[in-house]
Amino acid sequence: MDLKTLIREVPDFPREGILFYDITTILQNPEGLKASIDQIQAKLEGIEFDYIVGPESRGFIFGVPVAYNTGKGFLPIRKAGKLPYKTKSKEYALEYGTATIEMHIDAIKPGDKVVIIDDLLATGGTSKATVELIESLGGEVVKLVYLIELDFLKGRDKLKNYDVDSIIHG
Ligand code: IMP
Repeated sequence: MDLKTLIREVPDFPREGILFYDITTILQNPEGLKASIDQIQAKLEGIEFDYIVGPESRGFIFGVPVAYNTGKGFLPIRKAGKLPYKTKSKEYALEYGTATIEMHIDAIKPGDKVVIIDDLLATGGTSKATVELIESLGGEVVKLVYLIELDFLKGRDKLKNYDVDSIIHG
């Protein structure tokens, strides 16, 4: 199934000049929902890993079903202040200002192999911070899979030493 046709492109969101790829139109289509999860999961064939990591919030949508289907656990990455137990944080730069992401300090044991799943790779800033947070807890990132990659923003240049894969290129 050609998932690209199910994406709704919204001009000038969240700011003027940005063309936003809206994936709610994929999720609402039963075949689209199934194909997006199946195609992300197919990228993990032959990869050995312990956990799926999904950044809040669209990483949850695609990460949890793949973790469920592959018989693995799911580790959420959340924005600051949302996780209840002790956390490790990572601050990273946005176009304007900074953002902070967090994981529970005991979510990953040294040597655990994790796969990161998210909806979209843009500049790669979020993913780089996610990788650094996982590695600071002793985890090893064995693969990153995205439903959509915006090639022109060159996000994978920030992830040069990693196995980066995506389904749709925009
Ligand atoms: P990056 O840090 O610039 O790579 O941005 C990636 C993050 O921003 C992901 O978590 C996406 O969910 C979100 N994002 C950026 N642009 C879009 C878009 O056009 N559609 C949906 N999500 C986006």
